[in-house]
Amino acid sequence: MDDVGIEFVREILVKIVRAPRVTGIEYMALPLLRDLMEPFSDIFKVDNWGNSEAVINPGGKPVVMFAAHIDQLGIIVKDITEDGFLKFEGVGWDPRVVYGMRVRLLTEKGEVKGVVSTLPPHIFKTYKELGEKKLEIRDLTIDVGASSREEAESLGIKPGVYGVPDYNPCDLFGDYFTSPGLDDGAGVTTILVAQKRIWEHRDEVDAEVHIVTTIQEEIGLRGAEMMAYRIKPDIAVAVDATFARQPRLPEEFVIKAGKGPVISKGPIYHWEVVNTLEGVAREFKIPYQIEPDYRGYGTDTWAIQVARGGVKTGLVSIPLRNMHSPVEVINLRDVWWGGELLFRFVERL
Ligand SMILES: [Zn+2]
Repeated sequence: MDDVGIEFVREILVKIVRAPRVTGIEYMALPLLRDLMEPFSDIFKVDNWGNSEAVINPGGKPVVMFAAHIDQLGIIVKDITEDGFLKFEGVGWDPRVVYGMRVRLLTEKGEVKGVVSTLPPHIFKTYKELGEKKLEIRDLTIDVGASSREEAESLGIKPGVYGVPDYNPCDLFGDYFTSPGLDDGAGVTTILVAQKRIWEHRDEVDAEVHIVTTIQEEIGLRGAEMMAYRIKPDIAVAVDATFARQPRLPEEFVIKAGKGPVISKGPIYHWEVVNTLEGVAREFKIPYQIEPDYRGYGTDTWAIQVARGGVKTGLVSIPLRNMHSPVEVINLRDVWWGGELLFRFVERL
């Protein structure tokens, strides 16, 4: 792999993680997706709900779909207190990583910055019960600097406004990279790498390829269900993030970031798809890891497998540390290799 590959991955990834794409407002990322996907496709489409799709080689056989979810974890404002603090709700969060988090609130009047309030730890000596109380998101509030409900409202804040963690993406040592929203910004970038490679070699490809970003994965694989029904692929591979080894994670979690993309094996992953993925990885010396997974639910693969009488499905994952936090960590090489793996897979069909 060359540095050009890594540069390309970083460039796309930074754009994607900077775009607000909380579950429910994925449409905000559509102009960016059009910019990134349209140049490498014969057809680019967006559906009613904000799923996007780039088609290469329409009319080819078989019909292949690569899907990654565009949504990321966020929050939604529930209420404003009399003194201007915001009550909120979120899905998929550990409240301990939300505590003290900086947020961007996406109002009709523009972005408003805020912080999730914390308590001074000094007081826990006196108020022991406060220090020992289990953190719950419903007890937390966001401080935007407003002194009253009216002042907060004047900024465009009201119940139903979405918010997203406010952290800049950042390089770590050794091609590691941190940002919120790498689940599944990393997967989306992986399929875009594959798209570019397939587009460059489209004359040698027999398949009709659909590169798809799905909405609302985090609340139940909603977009994957829509897209699998509409496209009716013969073969599909979902690309998502998986838990990478890190301190304190139980020992059975053996997948490592930086050691290559992960191919899942288990009942919902079709043997032909798995064997072909593994075969091309070996042939082209793409580093990869195997993750046995007997249950399989929790990624778009789960919805796609049973669409329209059954699709031959697979799952490729990017190893990720600190999942569902604002400081998710991946290795950029895994994304490049993942894209290469999908490209070689299509070439083989
Ligand atoms: Zn995910």
